[in-house]
Amino acid sequence: MSYYLCKYNGGNITPLDGPMRSRTVVNMIHSLGDLSRQKVGYCNASRYELAKRKLYPRTKAGDAKLLIDMAANRLESAHQTYQFFYIKDKLYYPVFIDADGDQIEEVQDDEYGSLCESCVTWGLMHFAQQQKKGKYDDIEGLHHIQLWQESSPEHCDFVSCGHCGEYIDVSVLHTFSQEIDHWTDIVTDEDFKRQVDFPRDAWVMRELLISSDAYQNHPAELLKLANRVLDNKPYKAC
Ligand SMILES: [Zn+2]
Repeated sequence: MSYYLCKYNGGNITPLDGPMRSRTVVNMIHSLGDLSRQKVGYCNASRYELAKRKLYPRTKAGDAKLLIDMAANRLESAHQTYQFFYIKDKLYYPVFIDADGDQIEEVQDDEYGSLCESCVTWGLMHFAQQQKKGKYDDIEGLHHIQLWQESSPEHCDFVSCGHCGEYIDVSVLHTFSQEIDHWTDIVTDEDFKRQVDFPRDAWVMRELLISSDAYQNHPAELLKLANRVLDNKPYKAC
């Protein structure tokens, strides 16, 4: 027999996940915490609208975390597609080099300051051209420009390649909430509905939803995002 994880809100039941085995759904509920006003439970697969079984009381925070986890699950397959086929592994940045091969300083370039492994060759050509055109004539002792790989990148926000636009897999601290705000407040309903299925956008949304830094720093914003994801990726029974 399979079961659905459900949220009970007044008289309404919202299925959150499933179908799954009873042991899985019970473990899930137990792992999510203690007492509350809102309720989560599981229902028999064949008549989940009718059969309410074993309601588990929940905390408000536990309930929020549950919704965030459910939204993350809903985006999992698109996220995996991006992670597997598109995401870039290495982050490169441009550096001014002198005649002895030593670093003078990093190149400050808003557009192409971060490049991925696929765009290194393009980047070297681009910066050599810029140098030829005289853009860096004021850099004393400049011989040429190299691209260096950042060894263990840790950033305040997501990083994408300035040339191809794909995300680069770096560790993100989510110091700011602007990326979450983008998905909750700036993207229109119509665009959100479309974008939530795009691997690139689903990847970034799920990365936010599963990040403990994002949860710690911006719990209310993440909950808002989770609700928007769940509204736009409604539960479909198999
Ligand atoms: Zn690139």
